[in-house]
Amino acid sequence: MHEMAIAQSIIEIVEREARKHNSSGVRKVKVQIGEFSGVVKEALEFSFEIAKSGTVAENAELEIEIVEFKARCKVCGFEINGVDDFNLFCSRCGDPMEIVSGREMRVEYIEIE
Ligand SMILES: [Zn+2]
Repeated sequence: MHEMAIAQSIIEIVEREARKHNSSGVRKVKVQIGEFSGVVKEALEFSFEIAKSGTVAENAELEIEIVEFKARCKVCGFEINGVDDFNLFCSRCGDPMEIVSGREMRVEYIEIE
């Protein structure tokens, strides 16, 4: 499961931060996940629950923010919101579309004790 690997790398980041601040506990972890990243929110929540046990993040709450998918044509500025409408080429002028957001996968902040 793809989400388990992500949950483990989130834990690694959290442990590194906690160590840096000499902290023994983490209250909350906030992550941003793009709509287009292929990550399933529920699966990540489930994986995080397993991955955090026995770590400094054992009691941490995971908050997941889903970042909306957005693509824009560099030539005419035509914009698409939402994965369902996505086409690699602009439906107006036929030029390749550029993904503006929706591929994120990052830890936004960590609340430590
Ligand atoms: Zn265009």
